[in-house]
Amino acid sequence: MSEQQAEAFTFDGGRVDPGETEEFRYPVSETYLGDPVRIPVTIINGPRPGPTAFLSAAIHGDELNGIEVVREVAQEWDHSEVCGTLVCLPVLNVQGFVAQERYLPIYERDLNRAFPGKQNSTSSNRIAYQIYHNFIEPCDFGLDFHTSTRGRTNMFHVRADMDDEGAARLARAFGTNLIMAGEGSSGMLRREATDDGIPTITLEMGEAHRFERELIDHALDASGACSPNTGFTNRKRFGGRDGGL
Ligand SMILES: [Zn+2]
Repeated sequence: MSEQQAEAFTFDGGRVDPGETEEFRYPVSETYLGDPVRIPVTIINGPRPGPTAFLSAAIHGDELNGIEVVREVAQEWDHSEVCGTLVCLPVLNVQGFVAQERYLPIYERDLNRAFPGKQNSTSSNRIAYQIYHNFIEPCDFGLDFHTSTRGRTNMFHVRADMDDEGAARLARAFGTNLIMAGEGSSGMLRREATDDGIPTITLEMGEAHRFERELIDHALDASGACSPNTGFTNRKRFGGRDGGL
């Protein structure tokens, strides 16, 4: 085993030390009335060193299946064996989620075309900047959960840039029957993070506006199976119901 020490996870305004879990709401924007818009965040920093991974959902506000996947990993999995850090971001597009709309209600902007964001720019760019700067940049890899748009359904599959070695390993480890290969559009979270050295894949499953239990369970099992095959980690590093991610 390595002599590496577990490190604190830090972001603007806080830190989570090894062996600690913090659950909080982090301000990424404000309404026209000046009230903060805050995203839910759970950071689980295990007692032993390991990679830092993010799990994100509802970048499109009406895509619900991934929210439950990330929530269960954050709140129901056993984290006592976690090595490394899990950054759980169940609802990235809070305004869209509240309105049950895909896009940010402000000018119907797609938050998933605004990454890595900018500090002095449009509302969507500023939200993306806060998310990316604080919670994506410190990570080693990521999983971003989606569903189809409303009125359609997606079979369970992965989308990844298979020309990127890390993303390709993650995609294969997820064990779906179908992988759609492609780098994705400019401004998309998985593309910008992967280009930035943080291999990230998209998981597509089911339809918007629904919690589909079978697909959620499938995604939880696949998330658990994901880490040991990637080389980023092994089964013992992240706790889980079967010891996986
Ligand atoms: Zn989506």
